[in-house]
Amino acid sequence: MSTNHESSRAAPELEAFRGEVRAWLQDNCPESLRKRWPDPFAEFSVLRTLRKGDSAIWLEAMIEKGWTAPTWPREYGGGGLSRHQNAILKDEMARINAPPPLLGMGLSMIGPTLLDLGTEAQKKAHLPKIITGDTRWCQGYSEPNAGSDLANIQTKAEDRGDHFIINGSKTWTSGGHLATWMFCLVRTGKYEKKQQGISFVLFEMDQPGITLKPIRLISGDSPFCETFFDNVKALKENVIGKVDEGWSVAKRLLQHERSSIGESPGQPSGENSRVPQLVKLAKHYLGEDKGRIANPELRTDIIRHLINTKAFKLTIKRAFDEAKVGASSGDTTSMFKFYGSENVQAKHELMLEVMGSNALAWEGEDFSDTELETLRIWLGAKAATIYGGSSEIQLNIIAKRVLGLPE
Ligand SMILES: Cc1cc2nc3c(=O)[nH]c(=O)nc-3n(C[C@H](O)[C@H](O)[C@H](O)COP(=O)(O)OP(=O)(O)OC[C@H]3O[C@@H](n4cnc5c(N)ncnc54)[C@H](O)[C@@H]3O)c2cc1C
Repeated sequence: MSTNHESSRAAPELEAFRGEVRAWLQDNCPESLRKRWPDPFAEFSVLRTLRKGDSAIWLEAMIEKGWTAPTWPREYGGGGLSRHQNAILKDEMARINAPPPLLGMGLSMIGPTLLDLGTEAQKKAHLPKIITGDTRWCQGYSEPNAGSDLANIQTKAEDRGDHFIINGSKTWTSGGHLATWMFCLVRTGKYEKKQQGISFVLFEMDQPGITLKPIRLISGDSPFCETFFDNVKALKENVIGKVDEGWSVAKRLLQHERSSIGESPGQPSGENSRVPQLVKLAKHYLGEDKGRIANPELRTDIIRHLINTKAFKLTIKRAFDEAKVGASSGDTTSMFKFYGSENVQAKHELMLEVMGSNALAWEGEDFSDTELETLRIWLGAKAATIYGGSSEIQLNIIAKRVLGLPE
């Protein structure tokens, strides 16, 4: 039976590759992990040193193949796969519900930015440790008065020869309490326009002068922090791009962030499998009528959602192909971010509708794991249209830079 990327027209070498991948995954992905995985950010993005049991075995096997960063060059420890090979790998992993072995801002944000704009020395210093999960990264962009208006940052860095000394604060630092490194926007120079005089620096989190204050959520979790800097040191060798010209680096990273949010790597892989999770759930909760979801209205809504999702994936594929031949700008990532995050929210709304009051439980033995998880994921997905730049900001970018509308 064919899957998303399988095609009778696939080149023979790609078919052979699919066979190798399938056999390798069969041998190396522990059975215990082949299930719908819960909150991926809690389970799959922690440091290698914190891994235990089957999750550690899976990570080590994937590192060995370079498949924690499948498309990154082999010289840094990546898999060196082409985009088509990577699509096959993802497809085969989804087929058996294999979880991604590693997630985080290293792989989705700073790594790709270093590949684009880092020096050779910076790539060699940082990429291999991202690929192995030996470093974990956090993002020092937002400040109390710099969210949507990011160029308004005030955190200062003073030039001390071979290093900068940083003072100020950041907020909403996701995973700051687990991070070993931060990529950070700081003010280093004078400016007429606020986008000038900003530098993009990297520094270690385990040093004197960094204080983290957890921000507690209504759920009781604290996935992010306020971060305070009191004479924190950043070596100049860890400035990406030119000093005072970090805004263009910051924007490039945001494009990677937005495209990864749009593609939703953190979504349970069940959605990629042949029978989408929504359909399975709907049949379970609403019953079946001749093999179809029994409730005609929700059936139509679900089909419409699945068609939209398919069309969105094809649009991403087309945009990648266009980008390869220079026919589209990086700003199209704002379209992925906008539509991808709105679409994820739509999916979770539908899940709630399908499950009804079963999905409104916070705890209790009478409820299944899926039921307890659904409410939390629905709430968590609310943030997707805010982080990485809100939907309104993406629409502004699309209007100006993709559609070329007047200011
Ligand atoms: C779960 C989560 C994790 C995050 N993690 C990080 C992180 O790790 N590191 C980090 O640096 N930041 C992080 N952020 C912060 C995030 O980048 C900001 O919340 C986001 O950029 C919006 O900024 P703000 O919260 O200051 O809202 P504001 O900028 O104050 O915006 C408030 C509202 O006004 C609207 N608005 C603002 N300006 C305009 C405009 N010009 N046109 C139209 N509408 C406008 C916005 O769309 C929004 O609805 C995270 C946020 C969340 C929710």
